[in-house]
Amino acid sequence: MNALEKIKHTLFRSWYTLETLEDRIYHIILDVAVFMSVPTVIFGIIQHMPGPSVVMSVAILVFLIIIQFVTMRCPKYADLCRMLLVLGMNLVFLPVCFFTAGGLYSGMILFFATGFVLCGLLLRGKTAGIVFTLTLVVMELALILSVRFPEFVEPMTPEQHLLDAETALILVGTSLFAVTGLLLRSYAEERDRNVELMQKLRDLSVMDALSGLYNRRELFRRLEVMYGDIPKERTETLSVDGRYLAMFDIDNFKTLNDTYGHGFGDTVLVSVANVLRDMVKRENGELSARYGGEEFVSILRAPSREEAYARVNQAREEIMSLSWEEFPAVRVSISGGLIACEDHADLTQALHDVDDLLYKAKAAGKNQVCI
Ligand code: GH3
Ligand code: MG
Ligand code: MG
Repeated sequence: MNALEKIKHTLFRSWYTLETLEDRIYHIILDVAVFMSVPTVIFGIIQHMPGPSVVMSVAILVFLIIIQFVTMRCPKYADLCRMLLVLGMNLVFLPVCFFTAGGLYSGMILFFATGFVLCGLLLRGKTAGIVFTLTLVVMELALILSVRFPEFVEPMTPEQHLLDAETALILVGTSLFAVTGLLLRSYAEERDRNVELMQKLRDLSVMDALSGLYNRRELFRRLEVMYGDIPKERTETLSVDGRYLAMFDIDNFKTLNDTYGHGFGDTVLVSVANVLRDMVKRENGELSARYGGEEFVSILRAPSREEAYARVNQAREEIMSLSWEEFPAVRVSISGGLIACEDHADLTQALHDVDDLLYKAKAAGKNQVCI
């Protein structure tokens, strides 16, 4: 992280760590408002603006600082502060400033626009509608009164009018630019976070927690797509042609559990699962899944029965050569059945037949794959 990024990170961290987008919007607006109020006061003094105008800009700065202080110190009053900010600015400060800062020909009309931005971004539903209408009425009244009763309007020289309009343009322009930019960025961050979260949830929903293989639900979904029981998703090109279904069961696993403990049994289960995961290639639409306790099912794609068998048998041999530090003498084997998917009319038949072959392998002495 370079120096500039560090500064950016420190500045923006407080916004981006806030939970909801609404909270972030509120804090961004409040911070930008406070930030922009300081130059307003300074410009007012430097430009020798009328006294009441300077007093009002100081009053706004103090008001915003109080709102910000309470929001930060007592988060439970944040909603109240949000409401007070909009009501205070739209119905009190902006209309009064209109008279103290030169009326119709000053830059105040630009500041009025910010009132509607506050209303739209900080309030919701009926409240937003009511406050928006009130704001409109009060601001319209201010316009009419300033023309009907010019004596209420603080007099300014044409030079002061121009300076005031220029300052307003710079401050309101910069504020709107900053707020809209930061909001968009904030929204993008929120969206990215949600996409990441959705992906995590999706992964969790298809994975088996212990083995790290796909779970039974995902296995059945894929098989159903393959056998045409549910429509293919756009990205999926699954067909029974050239695909093979293998079912495995760890041999004498109960004895292993009873002898070395359930914890070691879990370790062995994960090691076996790792071999079966390495056996398949994701990009081919292949997968290995945990079918039940110590039973697994793999979908493979191969150009021939012989090649499918060779891959499955190689996995069986690899499992036989596994060893574990805790009990170096232990050896584990699996039995399996293998079928070509296209030879079986439907999913139920395919699972039934591959289970039969697995049973045959067990009956024939285990540690083998029947095809
Ligand atoms: P076979 O060679 O005929 O398959 O005999 P087996 O002992 O493997 O078969 P059986 O179905 O009788 O036993 C399966 C055992 O697998 C029983 C159960 O305790 C164990 N098991 C199932 N799930 C888990 C698990 O998640 N962790 C552990 N450690 N054991 C499990
Ligand atoms: Mg079993
Ligand atoms: Mg078993």
